[in-house]
Amino acid sequence: MSKVLLRGGTLIDGSGSPPSPHTSVLIDGGRIAAVGPPADTAAGQMAEVETVVVDGLTVMPGLIDAHCHVTLGEPASNDELFNHREPAFAAMLAAFNVAKILRAGVTSFLDVDGIHNIGPALREAIDAGMVEGPTMRSGGYALMTSVGGTAGRMIPNAGIAGYAEVVNNKDEMVQATRRQIKEGADVIKIHVTGNIPTRKGEYQVWTREELKVVCDTAHALGVPVVAHCRGAVATLDCAKAGVDIIFHASFMDEAALEAVIEAKSALCPVFTFLANLAEYGAKAGATSSALGVFRDEMEQTGAMIRTAYDAGVPLLCGSESGFSITPYGHWHFREMEVFVDQLGLTPLQAITCGTKNGAIAMGEVGEVGTVEPGMRADLLVLDGDPSKDIAILGDRSRFRHLYRSGRSVDLSRPWPTRSRVRGEQILSWSDVLLTWDLVNP
Ligand SMILES: [Zn+2]
Repeated sequence: MSKVLLRGGTLIDGSGSPPSPHTSVLIDGGRIAAVGPPADTAAGQMAEVETVVVDGLTVMPGLIDAHCHVTLGEPASNDELFNHREPAFAAMLAAFNVAKILRAGVTSFLDVDGIHNIGPALREAIDAGMVEGPTMRSGGYALMTSVGGTAGRMIPNAGIAGYAEVVNNKDEMVQATRRQIKEGADVIKIHVTGNIPTRKGEYQVWTREELKVVCDTAHALGVPVVAHCRGAVATLDCAKAGVDIIFHASFMDEAALEAVIEAKSALCPVFTFLANLAEYGAKAGATSSALGVFRDEMEQTGAMIRTAYDAGVPLLCGSESGFSITPYGHWHFREMEVFVDQLGLTPLQAITCGTKNGAIAMGEVGEVGTVEPGMRADLLVLDGDPSKDIAILGDRSRFRHLYRSGRSVDLSRPWPTRSRVRGEQILSWSDVLLTWDLVNP
């Protein structure tokens, strides 16, 4: 593997330290070999070092997205996702889409759950060099009780549908957890809260005891548990049961926060989906009632997430990429922007959430996420200073170089595009009901 000296850039190392000007980084064997003057010295003594002058550019860790769904293929509805994804085509689509995540500066990501168990296979294909993508960790199917998740009546009373696997008692919870791990899952995902089709809002659909059964089974095999969780009691129960990463953690109260701190759970609020829906939903034709609900959740939850951050709870950045409102390759940086705008974090603090803290989602703390000797050489070089303006991390035209495990990613190629395939998307007859009054006012 090649040796590369990134010479003279301004380094944002991901640890939260202020930017360090004129700081070289030496890549060797897929790892960061040296930083600063030792990098220049070591490079001077090496044969065959490629020197890349990055004067005036920012060098930082590649982004880590802690919440993606690369196998879903950007559906606009649960109906499309659950009923219109053939396994073979879905796998090819995921292999096509994962390159976009990399090209967005994301060098590592956790795919929390997906369809047809494509995730673990895609991870292997990336590792084997068959498919270009970021380093990937993958969940299997999201465990649900038969009450459901966030897909209403799409969730069956038993078995697997879409990204869901229904488990109806503790024996099934143990079996499914073990089987998913055997089938290659890096994490076990639980949908702790979900919609009941005939009622409003999300209900807790697991008991703490049931959560603990999954956590104990997974942990015994060295596998962490992550959970979709909206509501204070659900968040508290997740923390008490041993859930490692709690997604959303909406509407926490003091007791929930205390439990999270004590259990050392990590939080990944995944505001990006809500932020995109609130800001761009109207443009994308989303229904207006959904917009207000999501805006409220973000505002109410933001304050408690900030309190958690101040208390030392690790915050992770997740984009929910995989739906029509969060397509691949575009808004992976946005969680950091929301952390700055909504939580009042500094851009540097937000960058640490989107790089160093992301290593928690990868199960690779101390391996990836900062620019230090010995770490995996995942590096983004861009024109501009994200410690002043975090939003520039969303501007791919500023990206100059990208390295994944020390290998240069060719950013000069055109953005991957494709045409739609017949049967891939469902057609709706109309957006609204055509009534007599509508056309005869
Ligand atoms: Zn998700």
